[in-house]
Amino acid sequence: MSQKKIVYLDNNATTPVDPRVVEAMLPYFTEHYGNAASRNHPYGWAAEEGVDYGRKQVAKLIGASPKEIIFTSGATESDNLAIKGVFEMYSRKGNHIITVNTEHKAVLDTCKALEKKGAEVTYLSVKNDGMLDLEELKAAIQPNTIMVAVMWANNETGVIQDMEAIGKICADAGVLFFTDATQAAGKVPIDVNKIGIHLLAMSAHKMYGPKGIGALYVRRRNPRVKVTAQMHGGGHERGMRSGTLNVPGIVGFGKAAEIALAEMETEAQRLAKLRDRLETELLKIEETYLNGNRQNRMPHVTNISFKHVEGEGLMMTFNKHLSVSSGSACTSASLEPSYVLLAYGLGSDLAHSSIRFSLGRFTTEEDIDLAIEELKRGTQHMRDLSPIWEMYKEGIDLDSVKWSEH
Ligand SMILES: *Cc1c(COP(=O)(O)O)cnc(C)c1O
Repeated sequence: MSQKKIVYLDNNATTPVDPRVVEAMLPYFTEHYGNAASRNHPYGWAAEEGVDYGRKQVAKLIGASPKEIIFTSGATESDNLAIKGVFEMYSRKGNHIITVNTEHKAVLDTCKALEKKGAEVTYLSVKNDGMLDLEELKAAIQPNTIMVAVMWANNETGVIQDMEAIGKICADAGVLFFTDATQAAGKVPIDVNKIGIHLLAMSAHKMYGPKGIGALYVRRRNPRVKVTAQMHGGGHERGMRSGTLNVPGIVGFGKAAEIALAEMETEAQRLAKLRDRLETELLKIEETYLNGNRQNRMPHVTNISFKHVEGEGLMMTFNKHLSVSSGSACTSASLEPSYVLLAYGLGSDLAHSSIRFSLGRFTTEEDIDLAIEELKRGTQHMRDLSPIWEMYKEGIDLDSVKWSEH
């Protein structure tokens, strides 16, 4: 059997840890194993020093001050803390939250849970290219609105919202602006002050750091924002998130943030070039379509529908040589078509035939060549077997065909 390399183009699901990050973390498992809250001995001090430095590095990545960073277990927890924490803290001001139906489940399901506790939630829809209609957003703001939650970049399509415009709308209306920036942090420039962000969620494992560590940025001035703790205990993280700090995780997150910032520009250019080549070649295949806005998007992502080819079936033809994602990784166990693509107005057939390609720091030109080859071969194979494709090629109008019900 030939030992073919497995090409990994699923970096939006998770990224490998950069060896430089691992190296930075190692001493904090063994030598500096202290509890960062132990104030009265050198083990505690060493751990605290590591945490302080990591906090600085993470803050710098988004233009924040270190005191505004609350460490959590990841973006899911950060999303929960932001939304539930604001809902509880600002209950006197109102109970209305505005979000978008293409958000990550960690945001949508948290909002749904709050609806059972008296929250009123508006789920805005998006245009066919995945962009939010800003007039609709403005019109949705009510006197009892406390927060607008809009993700920076979509995890399935890479579409980037107009953050500056949304920040301005929120500032004018005097409502808090929370963004899940998990897919954007470390990959595109973020400046929380320039955009007027009040809360921001991110996760280390989406930017070549370890799993199980994330952060919530909570603005401290102009205005000072607070969230009600969702985890109670020793009063860590200024009382907003108790629990012994994950020192190696924080050190790794910090190093990952530092590397991402230093290499952001060159890496974005390199990846955009590779992505564009992949995309151009795949769009040359008959009846393939790009999903999402072509301009406003992340440099390393493309989401393509292969009409009349079922995504999960196509992936099986790769025979484990190519790791990509159909639908979203979090829901793909269910074989439901992607709710994000349905929200973009795709029919369930095109949504079912979509594949997300997310490149990363360790993606090479050779990987892209191999992916193109696999995709061309796989699509041809699936279509050769497909009676629907045969009918399409014979010129039968598939929409006019009456399928038997079952
Ligand atoms: C991955 C992801 C999350 C969840 O992050 P975890 O750290 O795995 O909990 C939340 N939001 C977005 C946009 C993501 O891509």
